[in-house]
Amino acid sequence: MMRHIQSMYPSEDGNREARYELLGLFETVLTELDQLKDPNKMTLGAEPNLSSNYYQNIINEAVIPEKGFGTRKTVEELVKLAEGHRFLNRHYVANATPLPNNASIVGNLLMVLLNGNNLWDVDGTAAAKTEVQITSMMSDIVGYDKQKSGGFTTWGGQGAVFQSLRLAIATACPEANQKGIPQHLYAFCSELSHFSLYKSMEAAGIGTDHLVRVKTNHDHSMDLTDLREKMKVVIENGGLPVYILATLGTTDTFGIDDLSGIKQITDEIKTTYDLPHIYIHADSAMGGMYSFFNKYHFEENPLYFENEVLEVLSHYKSRFQELWHADSLVFDFHKLGQTPYTTSLFLIKDRTALQAVDLDPQETPYVGNRGFGSYHTSYTLECSRMGSSIPIYASLIALGVEGYQEILANYIRVSLAFRQKLTEAFPNVAVTNEVAPVTTFRFYPREIRYADEISGNITEKEVREINSYNEKIAETLGRYRDQTYFGSTKKQRYVYPTDSPSPVPLYVEKFYCVSPYTTLDVLDDYIDFLKKHIHSSDLIMREN
Ligand SMILES: *Cc1c(COP(=O)(O)O)cnc(C)c1O
Repeated sequence: MMRHIQSMYPSEDGNREARYELLGLFETVLTELDQLKDPNKMTLGAEPNLSSNYYQNIINEAVIPEKGFGTRKTVEELVKLAEGHRFLNRHYVANATPLPNNASIVGNLLMVLLNGNNLWDVDGTAAAKTEVQITSMMSDIVGYDKQKSGGFTTWGGQGAVFQSLRLAIATACPEANQKGIPQHLYAFCSELSHFSLYKSMEAAGIGTDHLVRVKTNHDHSMDLTDLREKMKVVIENGGLPVYILATLGTTDTFGIDDLSGIKQITDEIKTTYDLPHIYIHADSAMGGMYSFFNKYHFEENPLYFENEVLEVLSHYKSRFQELWHADSLVFDFHKLGQTPYTTSLFLIKDRTALQAVDLDPQETPYVGNRGFGSYHTSYTLECSRMGSSIPIYASLIALGVEGYQEILANYIRVSLAFRQKLTEAFPNVAVTNEVAPVTTFRFYPREIRYADEISGNITEKEVREINSYNEKIAETLGRYRDQTYFGSTKKQRYVYPTDSPSPVPLYVEKFYCVSPYTTLDVLDDYIDFLKKHIHSSDLIMREN
């Protein structure tokens, strides 16, 4: 009986038969995926019909088989899951979702095969080692002193925001961990920052009423004058600012906050009002990878980037080289870093700060704090942790600094050309963000009104009419997403129409260049796709 069960596992002794058994299963998966691939389509095979009763049927039918299928039959069942799945080839341009590179795929596999628990180095030797390695490597990239910095992989950019908020509270109010959170703490972020902080304010118990949203500039970065004003108002009403979220690369528009400006203002306010440390977390989940250009030699230009690409990259450098000012930051490798979910690295400038949230050794009786092992992450919110530092490490050494520079520069190259082709093809489109891996654009039923919208020289009704025009276009394009999947967002930025009491968000379309297969020579296909579906649909509103 157990012999049969044992045959479902990797071998103990490394025998060849068991190895080839496993290899055969992998081959089945890879072959099936390859058979479903079509370079002209985004979807693997036919799309599932996600009708309203789709999940109800699944609920009705789901049952664990009394007698197991065995491994081979199970793998045959598994590969059916790929049918209709979106594949991350060049036709996926909706969001920053990468096709994981081969090194990171094998890194992930090794992580699973070793199945170390990254909670403790005795249990997760490989993950602990690579976690320390990537923490040092990325500290060097952003200008942290790796002898002082610390870091760990965690549950996404969201996790990094939550952990940093927790650190900020524990640092500013050392009693908060025992007594609960005082009622006068406040956090600040730009109105275009990710909802991660909103959720963390709820979860940490500060409450979202204590989240102050700062206006943004036309380039989608935080308006520093408004930040200063709002911090002062909070303090003068008895509040204590404990946390500022600087976003380096807003999720939809890639706005990049001026971190050294933010640091200057917080220092100035801290001194003026004699406050405890105000924690700054750089939410670099989206943009952080661009710090790979902090040490690029722009004059010699060893990778021969075009002038207009260099210009964008050197502007990025001017912002990303300030990252070291932040108390902590994050890299979402599963966005622009080309690795599988979830591979996020939370980095902290001064590792001793983690003591503020570390568990007392008495609270962790069964792991760590033993005579063996010297790495125990009792300051993370997770207990058991996956070893996602392994796929990150794999990707970093496989691509190297130059490989990442090539990929990241190509996003910009393609984005620049896309913008040009788009505006040539459509007289009624405005590109609505600065050059970035993501291009946001907005169609107008008649003449382009973007300048009027951002200067407030328009009525609310007109803005909403243009919004619904763009929403219809997004829905039309979405129907053909098995061919090419464009993104859209309901809140690219806020505008302030003449007759509106409150700000109105703009609806825009999104082209996110994130695939290594999205190159200059395939750009016409995107434009053709847009032309075909925007003109063939009955969208162009005629004058009455
Ligand atoms: C994506 C994103 C997040 C959330 O990251 P996850 O990895 O999805 O948890 C947070 N902030 C920004 C700016 C992001 O773009």
